[in-house]
Amino acid sequence: MSTARLIDGKGFAEGLRGRIADKVRAFASETGRVPGLAVILVGDDPASRVYVANKGKQTVEVGMASFEHRLPADTAQNDLIALVQRLNADPAVDGILCQLPLPKHLDELAVIAAIDPDKDVDGLHVVSAGRLASGLPGLVSCTPLGCMMLIRDVLGDDLSGKSAVVIGRSILVGKPVAQLLLAANCTVTIAHSRTRDLPSVVRGADIVVAAVGRPEMVKADWIKPGATVIDVGINRVPAPEKGEGKTRLVGDVAFAECSDVAGAITPVPGGVGPMTIACLLYNTLIAAHRREGLAEPE
Ligand code: NDP
Repeated sequence: MSTARLIDGKGFAEGLRGRIADKVRAFASETGRVPGLAVILVGDDPASRVYVANKGKQTVEVGMASFEHRLPADTAQNDLIALVQRLNADPAVDGILCQLPLPKHLDELAVIAAIDPDKDVDGLHVVSAGRLASGLPGLVSCTPLGCMMLIRDVLGDDLSGKSAVVIGRSILVGKPVAQLLLAANCTVTIAHSRTRDLPSVVRGADIVVAAVGRPEMVKADWIKPGATVIDVGINRVPAPEKGEGKTRLVGDVAFAECSDVAGAITPVPGGVGPMTIACLLYNTLIAAHRREGLAEPE
């Protein structure tokens, strides 16, 4: 029988968006403008189109201005950089996000590097990574920020002395999550594909964050009883029980069996996933406050 608390990321993200909408109203009455988020989409990748449409919809729903820039797949690097520079200079734009992946002929790193770090709401600029590593105020990438909010919702603000294992060391998720846990005074281990005896490493953790991209890799006997398990993975696997050719989403954690051991666990879907866009809006709100010299909302 499942004993773990189910961490409702969908519900938490909804509440967060509600709080952001309140702060947007307060910001507007103080400054006479609303925070603005610019999203650049190059090409017509169907998944990226859906993501960008969702971001635009949720941006407008919290009362912010959404500026969408859709460019053809054959856009030249210079033209894309020129657009980023225009958005950097635009006072109505507080956050800039370039939807990845970009078409192959474009240099993603160069495009991200062109974004003003104070508008880097995706937190992918090297300056944002450097600020995070140095403990300076900056913008933190959205999925790691969402993981931390969920962990604090379960365990409270004081994570001091907790043992945390992050599985995965990507720039997008693993490394920034580990930095955030370290900043919260956890004792952090970062595991990856070369880690020896991963199950016994994970077994020591009060907090497990799995960001690997391998369906249901983390098993129940890896989990310390009562641990908080955050599953970032999104993997599409065949689901013949739903019909021929059908698929379903699973995380990196074997959810059903780990639910019997963990103290709290995120489902997939409905856990970390919905937090990402909510945190993008949160970052835009923070960036807007900093640009106006206002105290940051909690
Ligand atoms: P990457 O592929 O960039 O990184 C995967 C990491 O997992 C690497 O560090 C790799 O190690 C490690 N790894 C791979 N195999 C193993 C293994 N057998 N044992 C231990 N570690 C292993 O992925 P991302 O970080 O970008 O994403 C991870 C997952 O999170 C994906 O499923 C992705 O879809 C999902 N995701 C979800 C988001 C959301 O919820 N909104 C946002 C972003 C990602 P090494 O470095 O040694 O290769």
